[in-house]
Amino acid sequence: MIVVIGLIIAFVLVVIFSNRATRQCRWRRNAALDQDGFYWHCLQCGASVMTDTKEAPKLCHDPQQNKT
Ligand SMILES: [Zn+2]
Repeated sequence: MIVVIGLIIAFVLVVIFSNRATRQCRWRRNAALDQDGFYWHCLQCGASVMTDTKEAPKLCHDPQQNKT
């Protein structure tokens, strides 16, 4: 029983700390629009951003979602 409770707490913490900003975001690369970096476009909120690495952005760059 303690193990189950521990897993639930761990899951909640992960959701709160790592998933808050990007919970809805779905980043897609578009190599055709690369300039100084890698172009990423968020299908969920429509935000676009250039990154230095090939990894998808960790945060949503949509101004409306950054209010919270
Ligand atoms: Zn987004």
